[in-house]
Amino acid sequence: MLGNEAIARGIVESGCSVATAYPGTPASEILSAVAAWQKEEGATMHVQWGVNEKVALEVAYAASQSGLRAMACMKQVGLNVASDPFMSAAYLGVKGGFLVISADDPGPHSSQTEQDSRLMAMLARVPVLDPATPAEAREMVGTGFRLSEEFGVPVMLRPTTRVCHANQDIEPLPVLPHDRRAAFEKDPRRWAATPVFRHQLHLELEAKLKEIAVWPVTAPRRLNPETSSRKAVVAAGVAAAHAREVLDDLGLWGAVAFYQVVQPYPLHTPFIDGLLTGFDEILVLEETTGVIEMQLRDRYKVHGKLSGTVPEVGELSPETIARLLAGYAGSPEQETASFPAAGGRRPTLCPGCPHRSAFYAIKKAAPKGIYPSDIGCYTLGLNLGAVDTVLCMGAAVSQAAGFYQAYRLAGEARDIVATIGDSTFFHAGIPPLIDAVAQDARIVLVILDNSTTAMTGNQPTPATGISACGEPLTAVDMEGLVRACGVKFCRTGNPRELPAFVPLLKEAVAFARTEGPAVVIARHPCVVDRRQRENVPPRRKVEVTERCNGCRHCTESFECPALVFDETRGRVVIDVMTCSGCGVCIDVCPRLAIGEA
Ligand code: SF4
Ligand code: SF4
Repeated sequence: MLGNEAIARGIVESGCSVATAYPGTPASEILSAVAAWQKEEGATMHVQWGVNEKVALEVAYAASQSGLRAMACMKQVGLNVASDPFMSAAYLGVKGGFLVISADDPGPHSSQTEQDSRLMAMLARVPVLDPATPAEAREMVGTGFRLSEEFGVPVMLRPTTRVCHANQDIEPLPVLPHDRRAAFEKDPRRWAATPVFRHQLHLELEAKLKEIAVWPVTAPRRLNPETSSRKAVVAAGVAAAHAREVLDDLGLWGAVAFYQVVQPYPLHTPFIDGLLTGFDEILVLEETTGVIEMQLRDRYKVHGKLSGTVPEVGELSPETIARLLAGYAGSPEQETASFPAAGGRRPTLCPGCPHRSAFYAIKKAAPKGIYPSDIGCYTLGLNLGAVDTVLCMGAAVSQAAGFYQAYRLAGEARDIVATIGDSTFFHAGIPPLIDAVAQDARIVLVILDNSTTAMTGNQPTPATGISACGEPLTAVDMEGLVRACGVKFCRTGNPRELPAFVPLLKEAVAFARTEGPAVVIARHPCVVDRRQRENVPPRRKVEVTERCNGCRHCTESFECPALVFDETRGRVVIDVMTCSGCGVCIDVCPRLAIGEA
């Protein structure tokens, strides 16, 4: 199983009744796999994509308040969005087991930050489990539900990219019966607590944490009890898996005491005491921040990220861990293999991607504009010079308004054209659009609507009208929603039809200059979404003729990867293996050198 499938298996096996998520790498496959396991096992469950992480967490939490086991899943930056209910749920506590899965991305490979969700767990005062392998992740789902129910607290499971995307042989276990019935017991002093009761709830939470810090089930594991060294290595998550292998490979298994921490917060208090009294030196290996290290209160004995011994940013690779362990255990520095840097070209939008056409049109309609953008595959519009800022989900709209207000102060006006994906618009773009209308921000918002959440694996959006399990749902009307926000100019166009789409954008830009916010919905299906294959127009056979003079406008301003400059012929040719036959380049070439064969 893939790590994410193993986590999903654990969720279904544990009798979880409600599973919610918002997609985000490295966690995206978890909910789809839950839906698949649920179907296979015939388990009674509600499985849904939330419109964003906050909504997903709140839906699942209500199920927990009703006595059901529930899970909300997201990536680490998604937890920022869900942080409000997450913090509060810790105080209120839970009834049915409640698991929040926040997948971290040390590196980072596909995230804006490499923040450590364990710090968020500490901030919220929520226990967190840190698996080293897919099998452990599956096991910890069950442990997490037990922990949650025994102490009445939400529990975080924090896998990292290397756990989510690793493969391991795992035997499915029997599925616990999904036979609990919702039974919400009214208790306003708890569930709707006013500040005076929150103080009491905080006291209770702190008392629970003290008990969790001695709960035997999640105590650190001593993996080589036969060793009598005065030096110890304490590791968690993937760093523990790497350290275990490296100690063995370097012949250092008996040279240092080795502990795996499965619950980095709250760190077990007897473990802290035993470690600080039983060892002269302690090396802590963990990703990404020194969460365990900061709970070990002896800055002279403890070496880790805070002491400067272990790199503070990036993944802890096996090579880095080998170097650290070799030095720590007194072994001569090990020769570590060095790998040549991977070659290849920079990431780019797919051939035929409608977003490329939209960006090209935006540059034509507002060539001197400011282009705030957002989180999604369309961030790659920066290659086309059509993305100037990327901050976080939904920020394209609010930043566009912010740029407008900043220039307005000096009596200046700039064309500001923001881009946001359809899923991101539903996730966090609606409140800033309302704000832009209310504040009369003269901006153009282009909603890049490919009817899917493309970057994370083509999950449905609220406008798709399909559930996480593939069942039909009510499709939300995007145009109606935009108009309901108060936007007076809302038009839809096909970005791959440049001769019509560029004038539409110019109209929107002109409207925004004098009237107020304008929205253009650039609608065309994602070309790699299997579900929408029949909606993509048939392929066109396109060729570059002898009229091409090699000006490179198409390769540099449009940058379709199927357009390749042939140095020997001094002109562009089409790579038929990658060309999707969209035909948009026909309208891009200023010399009309591209046409249908
Ligand atoms: S195909 Fe057209 S745009 Fe591309 S290099 Fe040739 S002349 Fe220039
Ligand atoms: S038709 Fe032109 S723009 Fe479309 S994929 Fe092929 S080369 Fe690229």
